[in-house]
Amino acid sequence: MDILTHIAAGIAIGTTITICTKGSALKKIGIVLAGALGGALPDTDAVSMWSKFDVTFGKLFGLQHTGCEIYSAKFWYSHHGFMHSLLASVVFGFILLLIAYLLQQRFRKQKSSFCQSFKRNIYIFLSFISGFIAHLLCDMLTPAATWGGVNLFYPLNTYTGGWGKIWWWNNYDVFLIINTLITTNILILFISQLTKAKLKIFSITVFVLAFAFIVIQVNTRKFDFNHTCSSAQVYQKYEAKSKEIQENILGKKLYNSIKQFDNSVSLNF
Ligand SMILES: [Zn+2]
Repeated sequence: MDILTHIAAGIAIGTTITICTKGSALKKIGIVLAGALGGALPDTDAVSMWSKFDVTFGKLFGLQHTGCEIYSAKFWYSHHGFMHSLLASVVFGFILLLIAYLLQQRFRKQKSSFCQSFKRNIYIFLSFISGFIAHLLCDMLTPAATWGGVNLFYPLNTYTGGWGKIWWWNNYDVFLIINTLITTNILILFISQLTKAKLKIFSITVFVLAFAFIVIQVNTRKFDFNHTCSSAQVYQKYEAKSKEIQENILGKKLYNSIKQFDNSVSLNF
C-alpha cells in the first residue's frame, strides 16, 4: 500500500491513543508522531530502488546484487523482508524508547532509570508499534508479487499475506475512511479539552467502526488483484481496474476530486 495511507493510519491510531490517555500536549504530540513514524518506517526497505543505491550502499556493503534485484528478492534486507516483520516493530520500538530515555537524561533536571522512562513513554511505544503493525496488515492485502506477502514472522522464512484484495495504491475509499477518523479524533480532542468530558468510549467506538468499514471495503472489491504475469500491460490493466472500482464506490464527482488531489501530490496513494 502507499506511504501516505500508511502514515495516515499511524496518525489515526496515535490520535485515538491520545484521547484514551492523560498527559501534556507535548506528550500527546509525541504519541501521534510515533504512530506516524511506525506507519512509515517499514517502507525504508525500498531504499534499494534508489537510483544511487548501487554506488553507495551496494559498494559500502560489497553487495553482489543490484538494488533492483534486491528489492524483488527475498533477502532479509529486501522489500517486505525484516523491515516488514513483527520483530522489527519491537526492535525499532525499543530503539525509539532508548532515544527518548537518552534525550530525557540529557535535558531533564530529574534523572530517571530506563524502566521509569519506559513506563512514562509506554503510550509512545504502543502508538509506534500499532502504526507499524497496521502497515504490515495493510501490505498483506496487496498482491503477492515476487515475495508472496510480508516476512511477518522473521526470522522464519515464511511470508504472510499477498492476498491481492487491493491494488498497491488508488485505495481512495480506505484513505477517506482513515482521514475521516483522524478528523473525528481531532474534533473529539478539541471537545474534550473544552468541556472536560471523558470521550474515551466514544473514541474507541469510532475507531472500531472505521476499522470495520475498512474491512468491509477491502473485502467487497469483487476482484482478485493477484497476477501471475507481471508484464507492463497486465500491470496497466490492474491499475485501470483499481481506478474503475474507486469510481464505482465513490461516484464520479468525489472520485474526480480525490484523483485531482492525488495527481497534485508527488506521491502515489
Ligand atoms: Zn510496506
